[in-house]
Amino acid sequence: MSKIRGRDTLPEIVVRRRLFAEGWRFRVCDRRFVGRPDVVIPKARTIVDVRGCFWHRHGCKESTMPKSNVAFWMEKWSKNVRRDIRNEADWAKGGWNRIIVWECALAPSRREKTLERLCAKLASWAVERAAAIPRRIPHRLELPRK
Ligand SMILES: [Zn+2]
Repeated sequence: MSKIRGRDTLPEIVVRRRLFAEGWRFRVCDRRFVGRPDVVIPKARTIVDVRGCFWHRHGCKESTMPKSNVAFWMEKWSKNVRRDIRNEADWAKGGWNRIIVWECALAPSRREKTLERLCAKLASWAVERAAAIPRRIPHRLELPRK
């Protein structure tokens, strides 16, 4: 199934540009994973999932409710959310850490802090991976937290 958004949305580009600048190497929309996650970083065994607040129902003020076709939207959102849950479960089963970056966390006033936290987590998870520290449940981080 294709994603709702196309590739290369602005939030994804913002994240990828920063990761690259910090020296992270990654795969984009990797078909080897269900849901073709936006960014896969093998060195930190981490998938970064950049999510649009409206499409994936973050619950923040960007998750507005359209005035018409409400039934259509409800159906669409429920499919998106169910798919997100299935994808995440699959990634976790494979032992992959997961970071969700919500679009609103990349608004100009919050962007720098979000990107710093993202890079700091990746660095610590890469260290853990290099040291082969076993984890039963992969790390999960959500920026911002719901
Ligand atoms: Zn949001």
